[in-house]
Amino acid sequence: MDHFLYRDGELYAEDVPVAEIAAAVGTPFYVYSTATLERHFRLFDEALEGIDHLVCYAMKAASNQAILKTLARLGAGMDVVSGGEYARAIAAGVPGDRIVFSGVGKTRDEMRAALTGGIRQFNVESEPEMAALNEVALELGTRAPITVRVNPDVDAKTHAKIATGKSENKFGIPIARARDVYAQAAAMPGLEVIGIDVHIGSQLTDLEPFRLAYRKVAELTETLRAEGHDIRRLDLGGGLGIPYARGNEAPPLPVEYGKMIKEELGHLGCEIEIEPGRLVAGNAGLMVSRVIYVKSGEDREFLILDGAMNDLIRPAMYDAHHDIVPVVEPQAGAEQRPYDVVGPVCESGDTFAKGRNLPVLNAGDLVAFRSAGAYGAVMSSEYNTRPLIPEVLVHGHQFAVIRARPSFDEMINRDTIPEWL
Ligand SMILES: *Cc1c(COP(=O)(O)O)cnc(C)c1O
Repeated sequence: MDHFLYRDGELYAEDVPVAEIAAAVGTPFYVYSTATLERHFRLFDEALEGIDHLVCYAMKAASNQAILKTLARLGAGMDVVSGGEYARAIAAGVPGDRIVFSGVGKTRDEMRAALTGGIRQFNVESEPEMAALNEVALELGTRAPITVRVNPDVDAKTHAKIATGKSENKFGIPIARARDVYAQAAAMPGLEVIGIDVHIGSQLTDLEPFRLAYRKVAELTETLRAEGHDIRRLDLGGGLGIPYARGNEAPPLPVEYGKMIKEELGHLGCEIEIEPGRLVAGNAGLMVSRVIYVKSGEDREFLILDGAMNDLIRPAMYDAHHDIVPVVEPQAGAEQRPYDVVGPVCESGDTFAKGRNLPVLNAGDLVAFRSAGAYGAVMSSEYNTRPLIPEVLVHGHQFAVIRARPSFDEMINRDTIPEWL
């Protein structure tokens, strides 16, 4: 459920007409709904009611300061995957003891920054990383709390580019090697082993792969405890999918996911962490774009938008489907036509949809890409020297630009000319 609905014949973001935002900030832009962000965070929080837990929002999904603050106010932790994300979380007022640090390539500088600024735990992904973290912690005269991310070799049944839990993926250590790696960790004086971490992929639409992975984690918990490790926290990653196409079967709900977690892991008495990203932010955002031209090809019509692959790369990158809806509500039974929906970037990959049936549209009309809140703005670029598009946050009747569109001068002035030119 989200808060982007038609009202009086036009699309609203909460209580603000989308067309009003378009008039104020220009197109294209992203718009997020506070109520949807809050609702989705709370669904996860409530799903784990009754067990000690922390929901750490995977901020790589959408990391604007205003979004982080919205969630942090509700008590969210953050899952960060870079020094930049760590700095963003701290800047948004998230206390260090609610920040977990994931990622396969943490540098010593990043480790230092997190150990100095405060960190809940590092999710360590390899033996060399473990050794480096031990050294950095010792240099700083501290101990780094860690879990080890295990790779359970489970097929997440999702797009190959976002599957992370198979043995051929770069993530985590093979679960079969876990005993050995935990023994090494326990012998490192700069590390404090507190738990186990797993994250098998993104946009999972079935609970079974999670269940298989969590069962392996439960077994490993018992094994490691028997060997003397104080396993008291389980970080179960993120990955629960969202319905990108309306009308298709919906993925499991957070409450069902929470129930499964309690079934599989509740008896262990561990604190549970989860790291949802997409499900918190995905349906909380739209990308709004304007039709520049309707162009007739030989055998098809192209809807040429002012938004492009550099603004929303998911269709080009993952063949992802986004529902596209006109901002003016179509009349019931209105004529539909198949369109190839494209952007202005000079690549054929700059195609959002092929043969998509949409109500008849004309130059100047506004359209909204639904489910664009996660992995949208954060993955955008300035390819073709197209400015990063603004982000807008709606809260009831109010809206605010939370990242402004840079001017051409601002973009150009980021470059510097060497003295010999
Ligand atoms: C990307 C990622 C997540 C979030 O995944 P979603 O599918 O957005 O929920 C959580 N944890 C880790 C380690 C990740 O890399």
